[in-house]
Amino acid sequence: MTARHRVVIIGGGFAGLRAARALRSAPVDVTLIDRRNYHLFQPLLYQVATGSLSPGQIAAPIRSVLSRQKNTRVLMGDVVDISTPSRRRSVSRTPPSDRRGSGS
Ligand SMILES: Cc1cc2nc3c(=O)[nH]c(=O)nc-3n(C[C@H](O)[C@H](O)[C@H](O)COP(=O)(O)OP(=O)(O)OC[C@H]3O[C@@H](n4cnc5c(N)ncnc54)[C@H](O)[C@@H]3O)c2cc1C
Repeated sequence: MTARHRVVIIGGGFAGLRAARALRSAPVDVTLIDRRNYHLFQPLLYQVATGSLSPGQIAAPIRSVLSRQKNTRVLMGDVVDISTPSRRRSVSRTPPSDRRGSGS
């Protein structure tokens, strides 16, 4: 039996979510990785800046958005490297904001 293809999507922005949804019924296993656990609806950022909306109103947990998609899992992590020959990606569990200023 042939193993199912595995698809890794980096980023749960508009592009990443659209790609994941497009693969909803495909015979593949999808892993979506984002450094944040939420999707940010950037076009409404100005409304948060001007106080008409709260941050929570323009952010949705990526896991919830894709929760009904059985072939998809969501991981939180910062992708720091992609090796195409070995088809592997390296993920740091440390949020980028914590790495900055660490001196390393
Ligand atoms: C203030 C503002 C207003 C805008 N208004 C409009 C508008 O009115 N109309 C319009 O069409 N467009 C608008 N845009 C542009 C639109 O938001 C972007 O074109 C769109 O978000 C791009 O989608 P994307 O999926 O490519 O990237 P993003 O939406 O930026 O998503 C990228 C995702 O990848 C994740 N990520 C990035 N690097 C890594 C990594 N190394 N490891 C793990 N995760 C990672 C990020 O956390 C993020 O969730 C606006 C943008 C801004 C900032």
